Amino acid sequence: MQLTERNMGKSLCTLAAVIFLGGFFNVAQLTDDTTTEVHLLLNSTSTAASVTVQLQHHSTAKTTPTAAQKLHTTAVTTKKLHRKNISRDSEEENNGEKKHASKTDEKKTQLDCPPLGLESLRVDDSQIRASSSQRSGLGPHRGRLNIQSGISDGDLYDGAWCAEYKDQNQWLEVDAIYLTLFTGVVLQGKNSIWSWDWVHTYKVQLSNDSVTWKTCMNGTEEAIFEGNQNAWSPVLGVLPVPTVARFIRINPQTWYINGTVCLRAEILGCRVHGDIYSSEQDLGSKDPLDFRHHNYNEMRKLMKSVTKECPDITRIYTIGKSYTGLKLYVMEISDNPGKHELGEPEFRYVAGMHGNEALGRELVLNLMQYLCKEYKKGNQRVVRLVTDTRIHLLPSMNPDGYEEAYKKGSELAGWAEGRYSFEGIDLNSNFPDLNNIMWDAEEMAIDKSKVSNHYIPMPEYYTQEDAMVSPETRAVISWMEDIPFVLSANLHGGELVVSYPFDCTVGWAPQEDTPTADNAFFRWLATVYASTNLVMANPNRRLCHHEDFQVHNNIINGGAWHTVPGSMNDFSYMHTNCFEVTVELSCDKYPHASELPIEWENNKESLLVYMEQIHRGIKGVVRDKMTKQGISDAVIKVEDHDHDIRSAVDGDYWRLLNPGDYKVVVWAEGYFPSMRRCHVGMQPRATICDFTLTKTPLQRLKEIRAKGLKIPQDFLQLRLRALRLRKLRATTKVLNQRRVGQRTLREERKARGA
Ligand SMILES: [Zn+2]
Repeated sequence: MQLTERNMGKSLCTLAAVIFLGGFFNVAQLTDDTTTEVHLLLNSTSTAASVTVQLQHHSTAKTTPTAAQKLHTTAVTTKKLHRKNISRDSEEENNGEKKHASKTDEKKTQLDCPPLGLESLRVDDSQIRASSSQRSGLGPHRGRLNIQSGISDGDLYDGAWCAEYKDQNQWLEVDAIYLTLFTGVVLQGKNSIWSWDWVHTYKVQLSNDSVTWKTCMNGTEEAIFEGNQNAWSPVLGVLPVPTVARFIRINPQTWYINGTVCLRAEILGCRVHGDIYSSEQDLGSKDPLDFRHHNYNEMRKLMKSVTKECPDITRIYTIGKSYTGLKLYVMEISDNPGKHELGEPEFRYVAGMHGNEALGRELVLNLMQYLCKEYKKGNQRVVRLVTDTRIHLLPSMNPDGYEEAYKKGSELAGWAEGRYSFEGIDLNSNFPDLNNIMWDAEEMAIDKSKVSNHYIPMPEYYTQEDAMVSPETRAVISWMEDIPFVLSANLHGGELVVSYPFDCTVGWAPQEDTPTADNAFFRWLATVYASTNLVMANPNRRLCHHEDFQVHNNIINGGAWHTVPGSMNDFSYMHTNCFEVTVELSCDKYPHASELPIEWENNKESLLVYMEQIHRGIKGVVRDKMTKQGISDAVIKVEDHDHDIRSAVDGDYWRLLNPGDYKVVVWAEGYFPSMRRCHVGMQPRATICDFTLTKTPLQRLKEIRAKGLKIPQDFLQLRLRALRLRKLRATTKVLNQRRVGQRTLREERKARGA
């Protein structure tokens, strides 16, 4: 997902820095306060290994209970609200890593109840009301945590709810529909590049009927909650006494002096089921997967457990380290892990390039567990996929960024925290821009068709040691060069759309449709994912922020969305054989753990069916006619597709294509080119199109000479025959020419009437 909030922060640098520091201290202080408060009021028991928050002590807090609370007091006394285990990795091998992870655990903010879903859109627009609104684009339906505004001020999709009046009688109301134990409010300022608005302090009111309201009390006084100090950092306000009600109001008291009453919010609450307070949403998925957010150590542990469960089809390896030294782990899933099998295509999913876009990471972790379990069960679809494909899963390309976001947690990380690498690099524009190199070469060339349309080498500046290239990017580039990947997807979050290359526009246009030579296939790939994702495919879904991708069936060309020079998608296509798209998985970049089962269900089919697309088009082996050895680096040209691909080390190749008939020419240095017609059908099975190439005599001679060997008899005879043939042809040509000349002469004489 693109970024507006951080960009804004950068452009308003000096002022922002002051405000940001203010915000930082506020959050830090609040985190501490929160912890104490929860402990004090909920009297939770806490050990080094786990924190268990029990509700039974709520009734001991000396405050006036609401009617609903009275109703439920007896039930409350015996039910556990929430259990949160803070797991520590006891089997740490690496000290540096250990330090990193335990720090993360300690600082993590504990939230008692999950969000109602203003951010995730689980809460419908109709459930949010307000006292007044500045205009429809700033209506109550925009008062959602992390909602992003459009670029123009005052449009239909502005960045918050803003009240029409600047007084203390304004409120934003949320109807939870069910009786709910409200535990907290998360508040955030307005997202805008034109104005600054946020609420400093507010009160909270609760009601069962939306007519009679009770203000939240702190002892005998009305509780005043600390709100925001800047426009982007979310701040948690914990209710002194968790209270059962159906409606909740946020009632701003003070706000940024030069601004107005604007806010974005999330409400925390547990739904009351009969006499049980449940912090869990409906289970959401029947798959027995580990649905929670996994920090670095927990991720390692989980991956290890998958290899333990399925040792025959899995292997963990690392492709490098992050800036702070966290390893970039990859899970390989294949019937023969650890080796490339001739003709078997290689697939990859990359998640967490933007560290705070945490859903992709969990989905990839879910996917590895799922593939392992289903393979063992004998699920035919999974068995086939694992047998015919070598799958590589990188759940976290930017683990440093993730750990930063994880410290704040799913509700308090905001929109940008943890997006960048530790050095502040956006990894999705950190790859070399090969598009402009190719386009420039094409522009300069007299014959455009002579310019290479694939395997564009990296520019020299990029490979230098002091180049501004993050270790994470370097690791992924060498991974891409090592393995003959055919298909990939890059998992992001914060929107619901699948974008396909090119991401970079021609001539630096901020937005312009920039298709590749494989546009039709890329559109197919994007559509495969988008049409099977349960949320994207729902025609009645609400916009995430301000852009309507549904009008394009939830797919878009990257350049048509916003230009990104040096993106991973473009690099993958220009530098390697691998086709890659970007999937924006959900409106919420970092959904609460309780949303993970449903998000898995939303994406499960898409993740599987997308991998299966690797078996489309044509594939085969390019071999030497004499030796039957595979020829590496052979160029596979498909007529009318100005993008070639190359064979891998063993001579095998994969050319993704839509159904149709194709003229394919294969060319390799030192060989005569070979042409075949290959038919691609509708079924997802690649057509086998093998090629056998004959070495040119010149090449044979070269090789023989290079080896310092004697030129073999048969070869000499062949050469001799070829020479004789050539001589014969030449003499025949001369004879024929002479004959034609004589005939002409005769005819001329005849014509002269001799
Ligand atoms: Zn992203």
